[in-house]
Amino acid sequence: MNESNVSQMFSRSGVNGRTRAPLLCPALMVTLCLTAIGACTERPDPFEKALDAVGGREALQELRAFSYEAAGDRFESGQSVNPEAGPIRASSFDLSLLYDVENDRLSFDWRRQVFDPLRGALAYTDVVDRDFGYQIGNNSVFNPPDTDASRALPSEHIAAVRREFRLLNPLLYLRTAAMTEGAATIKADVERDGRTYHVIEVDDPTYPVKLLVDAESGRVARLKTLQNDHIWGDVETEVSFGDWSSPEGSPLQFPHRVELAVSGQTLHTEARTDVVVNPEFAAEAFALPEGPRTQVDEVAARRGALSAQYHTRWHALGIPADQDQTFVAAAAVAGDSEIQHLTGGSHHSLAIKLGDGIVVVEPPLNEARSKAVLAKVEELWPGVPVTHLILTHHHYDHMGGIRTYAAAGATIVTSALNRTYVEEALSSPHTLVADELAGAESPEWQIEAVAPDGEFSLERGGRTVKARHVPTIHSEDLLVVHVPETRLLFVSDVYMPAVFPAGQPLLEPFSAWSQGLREQLPTFDWEVEWIVGGHGGIGSIADFLSHFDS
Ligand SMILES: [Zn+2]
Repeated sequence: MNESNVSQMFSRSGVNGRTRAPLLCPALMVTLCLTAIGACTERPDPFEKALDAVGGREALQELRAFSYEAAGDRFESGQSVNPEAGPIRASSFDLSLLYDVENDRLSFDWRRQVFDPLRGALAYTDVVDRDFGYQIGNNSVFNPPDTDASRALPSEHIAAVRREFRLLNPLLYLRTAAMTEGAATIKADVERDGRTYHVIEVDDPTYPVKLLVDAESGRVARLKTLQNDHIWGDVETEVSFGDWSSPEGSPLQFPHRVELAVSGQTLHTEARTDVVVNPEFAAEAFALPEGPRTQVDEVAARRGALSAQYHTRWHALGIPADQDQTFVAAAAVAGDSEIQHLTGGSHHSLAIKLGDGIVVVEPPLNEARSKAVLAKVEELWPGVPVTHLILTHHHYDHMGGIRTYAAAGATIVTSALNRTYVEEALSSPHTLVADELAGAESPEWQIEAVAPDGEFSLERGGRTVKARHVPTIHSEDLLVVHVPETRLLFVSDVYMPAVFPAGQPLLEPFSAWSQGLREQLPTFDWEVEWIVGGHGGIGSIADFLSHFDS
């Protein structure tokens, strides 16, 4: 047996469900019995070492609250120009954070500069009081800058920010381990980059975390856990901590540099200043304003906590589209009832009936959206199977629901540039949140890859669907879809039909993104009258061209 339950090393007296450890000799040695090989060795208890390194058990137990200022950057791995390109720097932020540990209340005062893919300067405050929360200000790049978009926070957002915030603050886990019997377990040491780390696993209501404690300094160097991603499933999440020092007047040590990575890609870097331990908060610091209250939804909260990275990534892009979007409206395109634009939220799909099967273009967001779209398709054409799903490009917001279509037996049509990427998505383990594909008894899926200079073409029942590449600076793998019989073109992201006023130049970044479409479309042998959007509505090709006339 190479594990020892830390809590069992101490005798404790419980107070209000919490336990207070007795005074312990810091030089306490634990006996680690390696019964398998019949030998016993002694070593300093890694947990005591970690407690000592942050200022001691007593100081941690007395940590009632803290506050700090932070500045940092957010990166996005699923929005690059191609799947091989590194993450984009999506936004920078300044944050003033107040945390009332004792009463489980938080206040996040965010100032975000969003650069990529969209742009905006956002300022808002999230106040969380246990399961209730309120946002004051504007957190969307789609709103004019002075918009007041204040609202009660949904349960998934509250759970997501609370989870990510815990991951960024290892003292909270050490405090839990110091105060809760059975919350921590010592695991076998690990070696990494020539250093030895003790491993302490600590309970977390969402998924346990492992603290990697540097064997020399006793400091928590890293934290590891799992989160869910709708595309990649169980994603390794690792947070690293540096620049430890004591805030003025406190024996506690705080990390002042923090970096969070998901699947080995850095998403969040943060440098902290002005850390205050046990500050006095103003009486109104965590007051929730009058008005609508959070409709506490435990299922949504669980979803937010398990997939926290998905929710916080959306907010770092200045696009708060992370709530499940299950309403679907259907509109026939150009009066043709066999071609339906399926809208209802931020991201749209197109369904085309071809003989005895359906082609769906675009699987956005997540499985919840895919299920809602598939239910609408079933309502429109009962019993007719979806035979093909066309993915326009690899960006996570457009690809998030792809696995549901694979589980439903649809052939996935994608750019050949994404073939490996899509194969990996379809074969990645999803155990934390088991989706339809993970639950399929013998998942079998098919990919049809479109060569960069090639054309996908499917003809059935007197109707045709075609797809071709339009590489742009938004994404090199972008496919646009054409139905010749209805003279329609479906396009995602680079242009939003029926949104921009005809005859006027497009705003950045759409002017640059859609330039590629403007230049390449005439080289196709396609007759186009209607343009239908993955965002936006249904417009005319004449309106699209009019933006480039001036
Ligand atoms: Zn995109």
